[in-house]
Amino acid sequence: MRQLLLILVMAGIMAGQSGLPHGPKCGLSDHAKFAPLKTTTLVTRPDLQTVFTSEDDHFMVHYDTTGDNRVDLRSTRDDRAPDWVADVAGALSRARDLLLELAYEPAPDDGDGKYDVYLVSNLGSGYYGVTNPVGTDGDGRIISFIKMDNDFSTDELFYTFGIDGARVTAAHEYFHAVQMGYKAVSGDVFFYELASTWFEDIAFPDINDWVPWFRGAGSFGRNPTQPLAGTDGYSVAIFGHYLTEWYRMDIMLHLWERFQSQSALAALRAELAFQGGSLPGVWINFVAGLFLNGTESDYHFYPDQILLYPPVIDPPRILSDSLTLTFLQLREATANIQSFQMPGPSNLHLQVGPVPPSFTARLVLDSDGLTPYNLTDAPMYLSGLNSLSKVVVVVGAQSGELDLSATVIDTSYNIEFALDKLGPNPVIIGRSSFTRLNLTYRVGAPSLATRHRLVIYNLLGQEVYRRNWVRDVGEGTHTLMEDIPAMRYWASGVYLLTLSIGRHTLTRTFTVIH
Ligand SMILES: [Zn+2]
Repeated sequence: MRQLLLILVMAGIMAGQSGLPHGPKCGLSDHAKFAPLKTTTLVTRPDLQTVFTSEDDHFMVHYDTTGDNRVDLRSTRDDRAPDWVADVAGALSRARDLLLELAYEPAPDDGDGKYDVYLVSNLGSGYYGVTNPVGTDGDGRIISFIKMDNDFSTDELFYTFGIDGARVTAAHEYFHAVQMGYKAVSGDVFFYELASTWFEDIAFPDINDWVPWFRGAGSFGRNPTQPLAGTDGYSVAIFGHYLTEWYRMDIMLHLWERFQSQSALAALRAELAFQGGSLPGVWINFVAGLFLNGTESDYHFYPDQILLYPPVIDPPRILSDSLTLTFLQLREATANIQSFQMPGPSNLHLQVGPVPPSFTARLVLDSDGLTPYNLTDAPMYLSGLNSLSKVVVVVGAQSGELDLSATVIDTSYNIEFALDKLGPNPVIIGRSSFTRLNLTYRVGAPSLATRHRLVIYNLLGQEVYRRNWVRDVGEGTHTLMEDIPAMRYWASGVYLLTLSIGRHTLTRTFTVIH
């Protein structure tokens, strides 16, 4: 059996959404940089005390019952094997079954027909697991074995502890073992990690270890303008979900088949073209969609987007009348992103574009409702915006640069303050004892810590109700629901209501009827 020149190790230093520093999860990248790493503890095949054979007979899980590598020995099984080990074996079998169901080839056979997995401590702080190539089979496919942490203890730097950490790692690493059967790792590490981290959520949808990796240190979520091929892979697992949701589940398999004879980007470019898409277009649509992360949005392409934070981008520029947004050095699978905000007042009208057809541009409006818009060669108009409206524009193309004009027009009434509605009017005090007044008012300019006062007088000029409060007030329309239980004891007749906000006061009358 020919020994590999390249030894593959999965690792990568990361930190999560928490911002905590994090050790490597899995490290193909170390490999590409420092290969061969034959001598490190990561890649040596350990000699452990005991072995458990999975129920499907496809895995041998090696473990220790004493010493540093010792696993949790508790057992509820007839054969007295540790539940932990049986669970890991079950997770490996589950991963294998799923991948075979998805029509992948199983990991190449190392001679005995059983894949070896070793449960060890001290893989390195934060290492979840590692898949090590050890040679090739008769067809020249890479044979490997897996080492993974023995306990996923809270003393180490994992995002997911205990058996759940072991389960997703079994899925992640076993998919690497399968991947190596398709192509030995010599580059495009991101694609191996993207696929394996994506597969964790396919195999174990309820364990979301992949989520904090999205916005860890050095992640795609922290730098969404980095090229896809320059990412760590872990943080773009969500792109795997985008592809399989937008196209079909088997698109990932087709990508692996194409990847055998070309680069990952070339495989993506060819497969997306085959499916009627384009890599620049698909990438921009994907990145724009990520700005809906963390919201309840009908526009999510994957339900778990609600668990993710939006990508981190530069603070918005202020658009006061007209602005040219210049997107330079556009490249495929790389998003160029700019955002802007308007200084107010309300009821602004925005014109953006046009965008020539060779570019893909999406506009995401982050205000009342998050909505992605497609910018085309006709200008886009948006109305009803205010100073809270934040606009994110995501642009991509095969190459070139784009100047995009954005113009904002103030179409608001020249009104500083208006009391538009007061109801119900009349207030009928009867069986329902309904004593709530609804007021709708408009404010022209925002102000902080503003004094509000609501006073009601009867026709004799006597004050019958007063409430004072202080709050920040934004420009635009506001609704106030004022419950006044004492109203049911007021005499029938006409009442005068004054609403003061800062230095403005407006007056309306209403009638109470018994
Ligand atoms: Zn990995």
